[in-house]
This record gives sequence, structure tokens and C-alpha cells, in this order.
Amino acid sequence: MISRTGRLIGYLQHNYNDRMAKTTAAERASELRSIPQVDRLSGALPQAALPTLRVAAARKAIAQATEAILAGHQAPSFDELVDTATGILDAQRKRRLRPLVNATGVLLHTNLGRAPLSEDALTAIQEVGAGYSNLEFDLTKGKRGSRYEHSAEMLASLTRAESALVVNNNAAAVLLALAALARGKEAIISRGELIEIGGEFRIPEIMAESGAIMREVGTTNRTHLKDYVNAIGPQTGAILKVHPSNYEVTGFTASVSGGELAELAHSHGIPLISDIGSGLVSRQLIGRVPSWLGKEPAVVEAVEEGADIVTFSGDKLLGGPQAGILVGRAESIAKLRRSPLLRAFRTDKTTLSALDSTLAAYMNGEIIRIPFWRMALMSADEVQARAQSLAAGLPETDAAVEVVPGFSTTGGGSVPSSRIPTALLRIRPVAGGAQALAGALLIHDPHVVARIEDGGLILDLRTVHPDDDSAVAAALGDALKKA
Ligand SMILES: *Cc1c(COP(=O)(O)O)cnc(C)c1O
Repeated sequence: MISRTGRLIGYLQHNYNDRMAKTTAAERASELRSIPQVDRLSGALPQAALPTLRVAAARKAIAQATEAILAGHQAPSFDELVDTATGILDAQRKRRLRPLVNATGVLLHTNLGRAPLSEDALTAIQEVGAGYSNLEFDLTKGKRGSRYEHSAEMLASLTRAESALVVNNNAAAVLLALAALARGKEAIISRGELIEIGGEFRIPEIMAESGAIMREVGTTNRTHLKDYVNAIGPQTGAILKVHPSNYEVTGFTASVSGGELAELAHSHGIPLISDIGSGLVSRQLIGRVPSWLGKEPAVVEAVEEGADIVTFSGDKLLGGPQAGILVGRAESIAKLRRSPLLRAFRTDKTTLSALDSTLAAYMNGEIIRIPFWRMALMSADEVQARAQSLAAGLPETDAAVEVVPGFSTTGGGSVPSSRIPTALLRIRPVAGGAQALAGALLIHDPHVVARIEDGGLILDLRTVHPDDDSAVAAALGDALKKA
């Protein structure tokens, strides 16, 4: 420490002497000596934090103080240093992955982790993750097996496809399919489907990465079968159909159905890859089909139309873990299995076990066990009753607290502009602004994310687990008192 201080003083005298007006060199040297040792500072930090994190935060606070002194500022007091280091610890804690309450009414919020997992999926993760498993071990033969077998059978059976494969996410699924089936050849795609899904997933870029050559046909709003026919030739590797999941082209539009494309592709001996994105398995499996689902394509429909590969996400309408699922013709899936890219995209045992138990809920006709569907199918009346009872328990406030009709949305790049009738808890006008109230909810423990509309704070309990209603009430009570 002494030698370090000595070096610092030397540095400071040579470099800063004539530039620093605020303190003299001698003063700065004495200020530097007043900085406490790392051990003393870390010992004074909240004991709830891990010792290694406390030491790191103390070091950082001391480094900042040293820099400030060198820049001619006064040394902070010990208490100020403790505050700085505690702030560093706090900020770190917030950056770590932690749960929060989603009161936005956006069911598959990509920034908030998309689909919550079912109790069954969590149990499966616990059981498989806590120990060893038959991840790549065939229990019937007593020898090496494949991790790709586990969910494949259920996926094929649910989607009526010949075969299935699971990778890390749908972006990887599309990349794998293009690379394995159309690398070095042309993949034909409609200009109306050259889309960007959030998070930098852009079809043209994915195609470029795959090594397939993009062959655009048609126009943004209208593409006809003849456009595909004219583009097909010996250079064609595949036809790609992409569902524009997060936007809609309306008005004077035309596109070619999957069935027609499959027929065209097969008459030329090439595969049709259909990226349907959202992972609605089938309408029948949902039972009472809600009208907000609109024309959202289902996996079974795409398979039935004859697509050789259908790709979709595990954590959108399927309601499972993050995964990319490919189902389709056995011959095409077999080609994907031979791709070296598959090794780079492989899923881990916890994902596979969560996916397995999510699929089991579909197999058993119990999709209500899947949180996404439980939330999505909850009636507006039920949400309203919960919102009213929450509102009734809030402390006195000048703001108008009302329960009003409104809409939840699926989000996460699925069912564009879906509007699910719901009941909203609306608070306005808010003293200090809705933004301040939303900010107070955000830093509350547990964190609550709400939305702001027309200057009012809006909470949609559809996306809140009913067990968390009381925690939301407490957070809101605190935030209102602060405002
Ligand atoms: C969401 C989506 C993707 C990306 O899926 P991830 O699982 O997020 O990688 C790709 N294509 C379509 C059509 C989508 O809707």
C-alpha cells in the first residue's frame, strides 16, 4: 500500500502538479493516505453480500476515490466510501438475473423472459438437473444414446410429423435448416417475408450466415405462385416461407399458401422450409379456440400442407422453455442431424426436461397446466375481480384508482396485434407523474413492471400469478405513499 501510494504521489507530482488548482501535491498525498484499507472498507459493507463481492466493491470504491483525489478532489469520508461501495453492490445485484412481477399484460414479453415454465417443467428440471440422467444414454440398450430422441417422439405425434429435432432457439432452427438444405444454392423467399423479429433476427442476415443465396421474389405486399415458378431452376436449394409474426400487411395483398408452395417445391424435388415462429401446435389442442388467435398458423397445418421442415420457438405459444423446434419429413430432419452446426446449437438437459414435461401436458390434454395458456384463457371477469379486490385494499390516495376494460396482448413476436379482453387497474392522475410511480414499483422488492398509458399507470393482472396479487398490492401501496 505504501509503495503504491508512493508511486501514485510520484505520478501525481509529475503529471498533475501544475494543472491541478484545487489541492496542492502535499494535500493530495495526505488525502491519499487517508483512504482506508480494502479489508476495513469491505468489513463495513452489508453482510448479506458474499465476501468476495464485498471485497471487489470495496476495491472499486477505493479506486474511484483515488482517481478523484488525483484529479484534485477532496478525499471522501469513510461513510461516503461505504455508501459508494454499497451502491456498487446494489447495482450489481440488480444486474443479476432475478425474478420480477410482470403487470404489463404482455404475456410473452421477450425482455421479461417470454413464457413462464409450468410447475411440472420446474419439477422435471429439479429432478434431472440435480443429478445424472439418460441425456445421451439408451436405457433399453444400456449404451450411448442421443439427446435428440427425448422430445422427438412426442413432438412428432403432437404435430403429426414424421420426425423432430430440438435446438436452442428458433433463430438457430432456421439457420440450421437453411445451412443443411440450401447452402451454396438459392433459397427462394417472398419480399413480403423479409422480416425482422426483435433482437436482431433478420431473415436476410440469417440467410447470408447460412450460406444459402437469397432469391427474392414478388413485392412487399403481393407475391404470386408464378413469381416462385419463374425463379425455380437447377440453382434452387429450397423454398423458404416465413410467417411475419409481429406485423401485418393489410389492404391490397397476396401471398401463396404453404400447400401450393409445397406442391411446387416437390414437383422440382426441392424442400419447403416453413418458419411459422410462434409455435401454436394446433387449434384442437386448445379446446375452446379464443377469437384473438385469429389466423395464427398452427404447426399441424403447416405439416399437413406438406412443408418438409416446420420451425418454431419453444417459449412462445407452446409455453415451454427457450428452444427452437424443427418438425417434418424424416429425410430432411435426418439431413439436419448430420450437420456439424447441430453440435453448436444443442440444448442442455434442463431445457430438454422442461420441454418434455410441457409437451406431456399437451399429450394429456391438460394445456391449462401451462402458465401461458392459463393466463391467456383466464376470463376478463376473473381478472376484473382480482383487480377490484386489489384496488379495495390500497391506502387512501388523491389519485383516481379505477378498474377499466382493456386489452392484454400475447407479444413476443406472436399473433400480431392480438387483443385479449381484460380488466386494467388504472391509477391517474398521479402526483409526481405516472413515470415516478412506475419507477417506484420497478425498484420495489419484488420488482413490479407496469405500463403507462395516457399519463396513467396501468396494471394488468392477467400476467401476474394470483399468488402475487398481495405482493403487487403492497408494492403499489408503498409506491403511492412515496409519490
Ligand atoms: C420469434 C420468431 C423467430 C425467432 O425465434 P427465437 O426462438 O426467438 O429465436 C424466428 N422466426 C419467426 C417467424 C418468429 O416469430
